[in-house]
Amino acid sequence: MQYTYLFGPVPSRRLGASLGVDLVPYKTCTLDCVYCECGPTTDLTITRKEYVPTDTVIDELDGYLSTSPSLDFITFSGAGESLLHSGIGRIVAHLKEAHPDFRLALLTNGTLFSDKAIRREVRGVDVILPSLDAATLQAFSTINRPHPSLVLDDVKKGLTALCREHEGEVWLEVFIVPGVNDTPEELDALAGAISEMSPDMVQLNSLDRPGSEEWVEGVSEARLREVAHILGIGDPIHAYVSRRHIKSYTPEAESRIMQTLKRRPCTARDLADMLGLHENEIHKYLEVLIQEGHVTSKRGTRGVYFIPSS
Ligand code: SF4
Repeated sequence: MQYTYLFGPVPSRRLGASLGVDLVPYKTCTLDCVYCECGPTTDLTITRKEYVPTDTVIDELDGYLSTSPSLDFITFSGAGESLLHSGIGRIVAHLKEAHPDFRLALLTNGTLFSDKAIRREVRGVDVILPSLDAATLQAFSTINRPHPSLVLDDVKKGLTALCREHEGEVWLEVFIVPGVNDTPEELDALAGAISEMSPDMVQLNSLDRPGSEEWVEGVSEARLREVAHILGIGDPIHAYVSRRHIKSYTPEAESRIMQTLKRRPCTARDLADMLGLHENEIHKYLEVLIQEGHVTSKRGTRGVYFIPSS
C-alpha cells in the first residue's frame, strides 16, 4: 500500500523508531525559523483547517498498523506545524481507541497552545515535544519570524498551561542560535520562562548543517553544556547520540541516498522526490552522513545542496 501522509519509520534521536504522520502541506507553519532545515516557510499562517483529508489519514494509519509494525512512537511531524490541522484531535482519539498499544508523540512549535480547545484535542498524546527558543520579543522575532498575529506572552502562557494540564509528558526543546538567544539577558529570560512552565524535560539543540539563513551558526558541545548549566536543566547530550544505532536506521535508505548524491548534488527536497521518501526522513540520514564525514553541503540557487565528500 502506498502512503501519502505516513513516512518512515524514521530513526529519531529522541523517540527511537518513529512513524511520521504529516498533516500539513510543505511548508505550512505559524513560524518561519531561521534555522529551519526545510527552508523558508511558504505559507505563514495561523489558520486551522483540514489541510489534508482526515479520513484518509485514519485509513492509512489503520492499514499500516494492521501489519503490527515494531514502533517506539507514532509521531505527528512534518515540514510544518501539525496543530494547524483541524482534524488532529479526531486522529488522536481514533488512535487511542483503535490502536491503544502504540504510543503517540507530537512535534510542535508550541505556538498554538494558548487555545484551550487545542490543548484538549491532544490530551491523549503520550509525549508532546514543543519548542521555545526565545523569551523576549526581540529574539522571538529574530529567530522564529512569527506570523504577525502571534503574541509571545500568549505563547508562553499556552505552554505553561499545557505543562500544568497535560497528563502525558512534555519535553521542551530550545534551539540555541549563537549571538541571539544565548546572551546573559536572553538566557535569564529563558530560564525564567522555563521555570514557570516546568516541563518534564528540557533539551537543547543547535544547527548541525545549513538552515534557512546563512548567518545562523552551530554551537559546540561544550557551549551547549554551559548553556544547559545556565538554564538550570539536565544534560543536553541527546544532540550527540548517533541515529545510526536506532533500529529504524536502514543501510538500504542510506545507500540509496549516497548513490543518488554520487550522480549529482541534490537538495533534501530533490532526494525526497527522487527516492520517494519524506524530506524529514532524508534529513535524518543526511545528519548521520555529514557527522561521519561522508557528505558535505553548500548553498546554491535552490537552497542547500548535499555532495559526497571527496
Ligand atoms: S523549524 Fe519547525 S516551527 Fe520553525 S519554521 Fe521550520 S517547521 Fe516551522
